[in-house]
Amino acid sequence: MSERAEELNVALEALSVAARICAAVQMEDAATRVDKADRSPVTVADLAAQAVVGAILQEHFPNDLLIAEETTAPLDSEGGKELAERVLHFVRYAFPGASLPAVRAWIDRGDARGGGAGRCWVLDPIDGTKGFLRGQQYAIALALLEDGNVVVGGLACPNLPAAGVQPTEPGSGVLLAATAGEQTFMAPLTALDRRTLVHVSTRTEGAALRVCESVEAAHTAHDLAARVGQALGTAADSIRVDSQAKYALVARGDADLYLRLPTRADYREKIWDHAAGMLVLQQAGGRVTDIDGRPLDFRCGPRLERNRGVVATNGLIHDRVLEALRNEKARSDV
Ligand code: AMP
Ligand code: MG
Repeated sequence: MSERAEELNVALEALSVAARICAAVQMEDAATRVDKADRSPVTVADLAAQAVVGAILQEHFPNDLLIAEETTAPLDSEGGKELAERVLHFVRYAFPGASLPAVRAWIDRGDARGGGAGRCWVLDPIDGTKGFLRGQQYAIALALLEDGNVVVGGLACPNLPAAGVQPTEPGSGVLLAATAGEQTFMAPLTALDRRTLVHVSTRTEGAALRVCESVEAAHTAHDLAARVGQALGTAADSIRVDSQAKYALVARGDADLYLRLPTRADYREKIWDHAAGMLVLQQAGGRVTDIDGRPLDFRCGPRLERNRGVVATNGLIHDRVLEALRNEKARSDV
């Protein structure tokens, strides 16, 4: 048995249970959403997914920390009672005897701070909530940090087909996962033992390169990315996809480059938006840095305090992309 096989298995179980719940919510109930204090949306599925992953991690690794995106605050806001009932309903798909206090405790497990030392799981229960609400791409992203190093990472992408980005039937998408030192694999969410190894593209020629980026203009600078693409000589339009499905696309060679270029000087990326995706891509042969070429530093708590933006590539073109980005930024700074 390879190192961290148990952690990987538990992560796969947690991701597939959460993915089934998210797909069920999408089919039955996607409209129940509330807006958080920062005005970003949260849905029944975000909270139910965080609860079931919290429960499964608690059962298998009670001493590990968990840093996760959601809190129980929306359950205490206006309309919170109805939301709590819907969350409980969906959590009971996986845990039929669950009570509301238990659900709250499982969600609150994700409130740990730290991550620099020891073992700490990192969860985005629904990454790309806006994609989820649009019926497009989203991911459940789970990673394990050991002393700030990502050692297990998995992305469940319930609407992502095995190739391309056209949404599948809810829940019949794929999962990509990796452990440190081992090749990334992909499997259908409905048949996790049907694994195939995935590898980044070998494309280097400018006109052949495919860039992916966020749908949301607030999350990445589309204009700067377009100029970087032009400088590299790309011919195709960028592929706009929500969530860490972008890391999956580069990992399996559907795209060659994922650009996440800051739109605000003070924004710091959240670790749950990158930990799992980074390992999935690196173990498929790719490379991930911030926009200045620095490795992502997961030792600073919930945010990547020492990094700005993200550049993720097939590895072969990484230095060229960083250089093009430096040049384009210099041109817009003068
Ligand atoms: P994406 O689907 O790739 O656009 O990323 C979704 C994630 O963007 C959410 O989980 C948020 O944590 C994150 N996010 C929110 N605001 C910003 C911002 N201003 N810049 C970059 N990422 C953001
Ligand atoms: Mg997210």
